[in-house]
Amino acid sequence: MRWILLGPPGSGKGTQAKKLASSYNAAHISTGEMLRAEIAAGSPLGQKARQYMDRGDLVPDGVILEMIRERLTGLNGGRRFVLDGFPRTTEQADGLRRMLEEMDLSLDRVVLVEVSDEEIHKRLCGRARLEGRSDDAHQVVARRLEVYRNQTAPLVAYYEQLGLLAHVNGEQSIESVFGALQELARDRETNDRGEN
Ligand code: AMP
Repeated sequence: MRWILLGPPGSGKGTQAKKLASSYNAAHISTGEMLRAEIAAGSPLGQKARQYMDRGDLVPDGVILEMIRERLTGLNGGRRFVLDGFPRTTEQADGLRRMLEEMDLSLDRVVLVEVSDEEIHKRLCGRARLEGRSDDAHQVVARRLEVYRNQTAPLVAYYEQLGLLAHVNGEQSIESVFGALQELARDRETNDRGEN
């Protein structure tokens, strides 16, 4: 399994990426979690990233690609992964493509977790209250959605062109979304057997 989960903030892709990774023995790679760990550790990278994150803006591509390169090259065994929250720009997607080529690996799926704007507002404002996450304050939620629409949504067409894109409806229960993802994983296994 070498997957990307794509979707707006609050789509539940983080929850699903964790479930997939543990079920399919793959690494869960979340750039958001990696950045929050850097902040918690008080590293220079964390201090730099925090300014962008607090505003709801994206951390510069170069910083993210360097972090991902380290993480991907450190993978062992089957080098299976589920990417969560990366790539978020076309530049990051191009960088990933080059890195995987160098490693002689390829992506097998990009899954868009679809959730309406209305539902996302509800979920993110709820999360801000529950977790007190500084990047989820009300106006930051709006900014994160705008950034998603402008910078990340173009990746849907990018991966569709490469024939990698699939969709799941993210407005179902966690278990139903996971069921849909498992079905996609099964499809892919069947196709692989057919091709070989
Ligand atoms: P997330 O937990 O994935 O929603 O990420 C939280 C915040 O971290 C985002 O709003 C961005 O500021 C930053 N971030 C996470 N992943 C990336 C990425 N791939 N590119 C740029 N910024 C990122």
